[in-house]
Amino acid sequence: MHEKFWTRADFEALVKLYIAGKSNPEIAEALGRTRQAVATKGSRIGLYSLTRDELQEPGVAVRTCLNPEMPHLFVSTGIHNRTCADCKKTQVFQAA
Ligand SMILES: [Zn+2]
Repeated sequence: MHEKFWTRADFEALVKLYIAGKSNPEIAEALGRTRQAVATKGSRIGLYSLTRDELQEPGVAVRTCLNPEMPHLFVSTGIHNRTCADCKKTQVFQAA
């Protein structure tokens, strides 16, 4: 069975539910997804690597990472946070 495509709205709903303190099974049920999908997608956008404190910041939102080779969604902790932690680590565009 092929996983239904995740839209930006799906990711936003996932982040919102997670911030609200919902568990993985609760989020899966609310979104009509599998627990595995919720775990995988949340991890892909860096959701689970953020602390509870970081997630309480008012600027937290799903944004597009500025990786020029492969723009992708990630959980940003503020309007100035435009590059995900993974891409920062690879230093692909440190010079930019
Ligand atoms: Zn990135």
